[in-house]
Amino acid sequence: MVKKAENFPQLPTDSFERTPTSAIDMPDETTPEDLNEATEVRCYFVRNRNALAVRANFESLYVDYYLHLMEHRIRHEPGHDALLKDGLAALTLHLASRPRNEAAAWTIHLANPSLNLFVTGSNRNQNVTGRIFSENVRETDRNLFFSQTTADGLPARQSTIEFEDADIFSAVEAFYRQSEQRPARYFRHDEEDFVMVTAQPDCDMPWFLTLDDDSIRKLDETEELSLLERRLFRFECGCDIDRIYPVIASMSEATIDEIFAGEGTAIADCPRCGAHYDITREGLREFRRPG
Ligand SMILES: [Zn+2]
Repeated sequence: MVKKAENFPQLPTDSFERTPTSAIDMPDETTPEDLNEATEVRCYFVRNRNALAVRANFESLYVDYYLHLMEHRIRHEPGHDALLKDGLAALTLHLASRPRNEAAAWTIHLANPSLNLFVTGSNRNQNVTGRIFSENVRETDRNLFFSQTTADGLPARQSTIEFEDADIFSAVEAFYRQSEQRPARYFRHDEEDFVMVTAQPDCDMPWFLTLDDDSIRKLDETEELSLLERRLFRFECGCDIDRIYPVIASMSEATIDEIFAGEGTAIADCPRCGAHYDITREGLREFRRPG
């Protein structure tokens, strides 16, 4: 019999520290025919204001996200679902404004409701993914934002900050204020259409700080925008069963016994996207066989 995923104890669901924080890439082996339309992110330079405006409509990325939830029979509370979608949008716009060799992972812990949100993505693979951990999350009295950034040939950069509002875009703005060189602001252009504006050196800060949803909607009429580049992103993890077995194999024998609970099969979750995989004792033995 297949064991319930909720009983899978070793993938991180119980504390901020154990929620995955790695920005390490999964190799992208997906063929283009398998995929829906990618989400185009456009980066503009706002002339005379010295700011970067990054914009995308996330409709197709959210379609892929919902297909993923359906495929793996993952159900979120509507409020949690909205938080994860905001996290995916915020991370995608952030990545699009960063060098092409960077990958990033954000773990956002909310104190109330108590949950951990994990989003990760890569400019190299042009993908983002993520999941929510809402059960057995350690109770805290603070909202925490943990960021890890990796880039080819450079050591990983990490930072942890606290933030006030239980709102994902506010959390990312707090992260920019406290950890990044430049401030950033996020705006909702439409339900699934978001804009991030980051201040560049010599930015017109009074203009930047008084931007609101209305002025963002009129940005292309009121400001001189130069298109710098377009990037494509998809909701896609890149995980498969061959990448789940190494995670299991790295666990202690006692933990592996607990996972299988005397059965020959169990269900394991991908720590990045929550995809469910049927694993077997036999499969694990095959994986561990030398050579
Ligand atoms: Zn995955």
